[in-house]
Amino acid sequence: MTETTDNIQQQSGQQTMNLKQYLTHKVFNVVSDIIAESGQQAYVIGGYVRDILLARKSKDIDIVVVGSGIELATAVHKVFKGSRLSVFKSFGTAMVKLRDTEVEFVGARRESYQHDSRKPIVEDGTLEDDQNRRDFTINALAIDLRKEYYGELVDPFGGLYDLDDLIIRTPLEPGITFSDDPLRMMRAIRFATQLGFDIEPETFDGIVRMASRIEIISMERITDELNKIMLSPVPSLGIKLLEKSGLLPYILPEIQALKGVDRVGQRGHKDNFYHSLQVLDTVSQKSDNLWLRWAALLHDIGKPKTKRYEEKQGWTFHNHNFVGMKMVSAIFRRLKLPLGQELKYVEKLVELHMRPIVLSEDEVTDSAVRRLLFEAGDDVEDLMCLCESDITSKNEDKVQRFLRNFKIVRRKMKEIEEKDHIRNFQPPVSGEEIMSMFNLSPSPMVGILKNALKDAVLDGIIHNDYDEAVAFLINLAKEHDMQPTKKYEQQG
Ligand code: ATP
Ligand code: MG
Repeated sequence: MTETTDNIQQQSGQQTMNLKQYLTHKVFNVVSDIIAESGQQAYVIGGYVRDILLARKSKDIDIVVVGSGIELATAVHKVFKGSRLSVFKSFGTAMVKLRDTEVEFVGARRESYQHDSRKPIVEDGTLEDDQNRRDFTINALAIDLRKEYYGELVDPFGGLYDLDDLIIRTPLEPGITFSDDPLRMMRAIRFATQLGFDIEPETFDGIVRMASRIEIISMERITDELNKIMLSPVPSLGIKLLEKSGLLPYILPEIQALKGVDRVGQRGHKDNFYHSLQVLDTVSQKSDNLWLRWAALLHDIGKPKTKRYEEKQGWTFHNHNFVGMKMVSAIFRRLKLPLGQELKYVEKLVELHMRPIVLSEDEVTDSAVRRLLFEAGDDVEDLMCLCESDITSKNEDKVQRFLRNFKIVRRKMKEIEEKDHIRNFQPPVSGEEIMSMFNLSPSPMVGILKNALKDAVLDGIIHNDYDEAVAFLINLAKEHDMQPTKKYEQQG
């Protein structure tokens, strides 16, 4: 338990709680001075207050003023030399960028939603109106910046108790809060996952009832929340909540499809939904890399399509890595995830995720290790991390055997890498040089020679070395009745 939550327990019985000791940033005093002159009310609100009370590292500061956010921001901007002001007129908000933080100013507002429109009617309002439109009790906390009440907590919905009990709860009836802005369903699950909180049962029921409303929210906003879930300490908590609430089929039907066990007689396969989540959590303990985490979540998505029951072998998922790899780009497109390097990386890991384990089951040949190094390139460490995490068998002997074999694979990789530098291997003679060696124009023969050269290096027939490569090519070309040009004749 942190010092602050101790503090909460001592003070939550009292009428008021003063947090001025936490208002260390200079901007709070500046705002306080400005509103003292104009006679306005202003408060720190939302995530910044919550994070003070959770003793979390706080991020951006949100300030709500009963009046014009833009005017207050402009006044603050004038006090801080070198700050930058951005005004968002159509939202009635403004941001002052200071050296160490961003401060967002908004006028207190009342929002009312019409059933047939996603856009609320926005009017000027009181602090209370503004707190009513917030998503959760723990996000509706405000700290008074007026001189006479400086530092006092304003907590109309018992957010302090919910912080103490680790509860996510909507301030109003959940059906209203979620129907007004269905993104809040994703946010509830995101905060629960990030903070390790529970969602209060009625709030959770609200999500279950409203789940289909998520369809009106733009993918970008959903994916923002999804990525925050993926980057949480135990991301499976969030994916399980998405599943339990009925949101998952709208967002990641491919993951939903992993759930369940088929049986023929006594023989069932493992539940690939829970297996994938276990792999995701294991990878997440070892790495903060968002894309490695995505690869872990998606590594088995090819399984439902490739599932077969065979009398002899039982349940099989032949080629599921390849089928799964082919599914990744459609998912990235739908979720509006980046389609460059990140996509390629996830595809590669999904495709190759069986390779080290297959390797470790057989005798580990140099040639197989070279091919793995060549195909995985710089991502080979991440691939090994994924593969080691993929071993979720309950059979301890089996697990130990695999992990031992992985050690052998790793040792061999290291030896071969030191010797042959395969990782970012480019064949030692390029296609262009092959053309000039044999006076060829671009033609299939160039590709044939180039591939044979690559295979020769990967199979250890020659070293990854220029002179050896030239000699190899000249010998091979002879078999096709081709002679090298003068410059290369000596080297045959
Ligand atoms: P973090 O910045 O750590 O993600 P946060 O709580 O600061 O968490 P923001 O998205 O920065 O989240 O929003 C700031 C505040 O604005 C929230 O604490 C909440 O009071 C309010 N808020 C944000 N999004 C919504 C929403 N969709 N519905 C209602 N209130 C919201
Ligand atoms: Mg924030």
